[in-house]
Amino acid sequence: MTSLSDLPLRDNLRGLIPYGAPQLHVPVALNVNENTHPIPEAVAHDIVASLARAILTVNRYPDREFTELRTNLADYLGHGLTAENIWAANGSNEVLQQVLQAFGGPGRSVLGFSPTYSMYEILASGTGTDWIAGERDADYELSPETAVAWVKKTTPSLVFLCSPNNPTGTPLSLETIAAVYDATDGIVVVDEAYAEFAADGEASALTLLAGRPRLLVSRTMSKAFAFAGARVGYLAADPAVTDAMRLVRLPYHLSALTQAAANAALAHTPEMLAMVDDIRVQRDRLVVELRALGYAPHRSGSNFVLFGGVDDPKATFRALLDQGVLIRDIGIPNHLRVSAGTAAETTAFLSALAGLRAAPSSAE
Ligand SMILES: *Cc1c(COP(=O)(O)O)cnc(C)c1O
Repeated sequence: MTSLSDLPLRDNLRGLIPYGAPQLHVPVALNVNENTHPIPEAVAHDIVASLARAILTVNRYPDREFTELRTNLADYLGHGLTAENIWAANGSNEVLQQVLQAFGGPGRSVLGFSPTYSMYEILASGTGTDWIAGERDADYELSPETAVAWVKKTTPSLVFLCSPNNPTGTPLSLETIAAVYDATDGIVVVDEAYAEFAADGEASALTLLAGRPRLLVSRTMSKAFAFAGARVGYLAADPAVTDAMRLVRLPYHLSALTQAAANAALAHTPEMLAMVDDIRVQRDRLVVELRALGYAPHRSGSNFVLFGGVDDPKATFRALLDQGVLIRDIGIPNHLRVSAGTAAETTAFLSALAGLRAAPSSAE
């Protein structure tokens, strides 16, 4: 039998492990920060109708410039953005990969601040870009001083700032983003995958775009929009940046069906985002109740909560799974991460966890 090590794999891929959160079919799946609310049925019907129209012309290549989608995304974001500022791809993961293809590559590096989104390092490796893991301040915060010191020390070609940060949930201040931008001549990407879950009054990095042509703000329909399965991510930046993306994208990378589905969903933005407030309530409830159970939850601006104070994360993960509750062990000692679900799912998680605390012998 042939194994991976028998193949003439690229050197920088040897020994690597693919991204792989477990995909288990359990009653309560709170492990990959999806929106666990199904999309409203009336919206689903409109999406199907849009797909039905699009399918009639799939003999032709789709609009390579996905102009209607870029216009709709610009309208959704606001801040005076137009279609020229918008780029989209099959998930923000593909957007980030294209950014690295255009601005990273051999001899170049990308700086991030760990612990952060595990895909950054994998995308860096896939594009031959060196990954630099900068460090954070206490409680996973990132001050302008700490971030700038890392930029000056490592002079990266790109900086990836995750705001709020996955897996810690930590919001990032606009001061840190602006300071990083001023400290580098490179590309600065702010990954706002969870922006819609931010506390009221928290400003987006979109407010910093004017006059900063090297600043890119990436977003996704996977989380707040409950569209993870459709694969739609996008970025907002100077039009010159979108021109750079055209140099590396595969022709017609966004299928006609993806474009049709996304446009139909965006036409129902208020209904699609109606669950965001409920999810924020459950997120805040997780923080309060985890603390009451004696754990140490971190502050979160996203739809998930990282909590410390877990004696044996593997055993707790396993014991919850035995009760049909799947959360995430992201490898931080004494910590686990849980997504905010529906009220019922969140209750199921909290009750199962409380049960383990009450009977620790059965949890271990
Ligand atoms: C979930 C997530 C994404 C979204 O990825 P998609 O490819 O758009 O589904 C991007 N960045 C971070 C930090 C995430 O957690």
